Amino acid sequence: MKVFISADMEGATGVTNMLDVVEGKPGYERFRKMMTGDVNAAVAGAFEGGAKEVLVNDSHYTMRNVLLEELDPRSSLFSGSNKPLCMMQGIDRTFDAVFFVGYHAMAGTREAVGNHTLLGREIINVRLNGQLVGETELNAAIAGYYDVPVVMVAGDDKVAREAGAVLGDVETAVVKEGIDRWTAKCYPPQETGRRIREAAENALKRLKDFKPFQIDRQIKLEIEFMSTSEASLPTLFPNVVREDSRTVSVTDTDYIRVFKAFLGCLLLGWTGSDEMYG
Ligand code: ZN
Repeated sequence: MKVFISADMEGATGVTNMLDVVEGKPGYERFRKMMTGDVNAAVAGAFEGGAKEVLVNDSHYTMRNVLLEELDPRSSLFSGSNKPLCMMQGIDRTFDAVFFVGYHAMAGTREAVGNHTLLGREIINVRLNGQLVGETELNAAIAGYYDVPVVMVAGDDKVAREAGAVLGDVETAVVKEGIDRWTAKCYPPQETGRRIREAAENALKRLKDFKPFQIDRQIKLEIEFMSTSEASLPTLFPNVVREDSRTVSVTDTDYIRVFKAFLGCLLLGWTGSDEMYG
């Protein structure tokens, strides 16, 4: 059995501040250890649940956060950015299950730690066929494209709720309870490690309960940017539609094609961001 882990950081044990998750900022070195601890707990649970191989994709910002020297030696790590599938780089049909670790709720979710969708201030909303979506749904659909179910999600209580709404009865491990965007009731790593390990093991033991999350129809992904300059740049690409002053969309019947076009819009739009006006 092969398990793919997408590891983000805002939903990691103890993270309650922007300064915890940005390279070079005061809390960063401490919290990349916490993130690595969460990942190791998921890897341990995977092997207890029957996995024979685990691939970890570092999915946060520079994607160079997980400490390789502290990583469970039974796993391997995708480190570094410029990944066409972004937080899901490395997934393919040979995997049996996906875990999301250190995940957070979508942009705009009240009382959700680090709530955002892919970028920090530049993106107000992302919509899939008109419905607001976060990273959980966007990435579960990538796994589903390759026929792989997401079976375990670890993060705060709000991403656990979002995962339940999108994916149904998946295993969740709540490592903290959100009070505000950067405030939470936190559980120590010894406890969160136990929760993640157990959720991971349980998920693999009931693998047959889960179905891949698939969207097999015309797919429209919309990005509502913070600023008009961010929204204008992606229209340089063919087939990108300017829906309104701050919103662009891409449409396709193939989810991976539409996701890559969406990611291109997001990255190009991001270059239009400025420090003063967003
Ligand atoms: Zn992140």
